[in-house]
Amino acid sequence: MKRTAKIQDEFTDLPVSRNRKNQLRRKKAGCCTLCGKPRNFYWEKCDACQAKVREATRRLKGFNAWQPGRRGRPPVCHSIKNPIQKAA
Ligand SMILES: [Zn+2]
Repeated sequence: MKRTAKIQDEFTDLPVSRNRKNQLRRKKAGCCTLCGKPRNFYWEKCDACQAKVREATRRLKGFNAWQPGRRGRPPVCHSIKNPIQKAA
């Protein structure tokens, strides 16, 4: 079986795992580090993946979702428009 050529870029010789290198490559390309779709509002994840992470953290810590008119800072995507809640 023929091996494909090793990707040569600035991440090649970093002392991190293959998974982390691929995450850094996706991040540099402007894509989500989890699924590879284009990012919109967040640094590392697309809106859908960030919503999943947020809900997992909320479930883990026992917090309630942010709602308009209540206390707390709204998620970044809420301040511009509300694509996640309509999609989910
Ligand atoms: Zn994603």
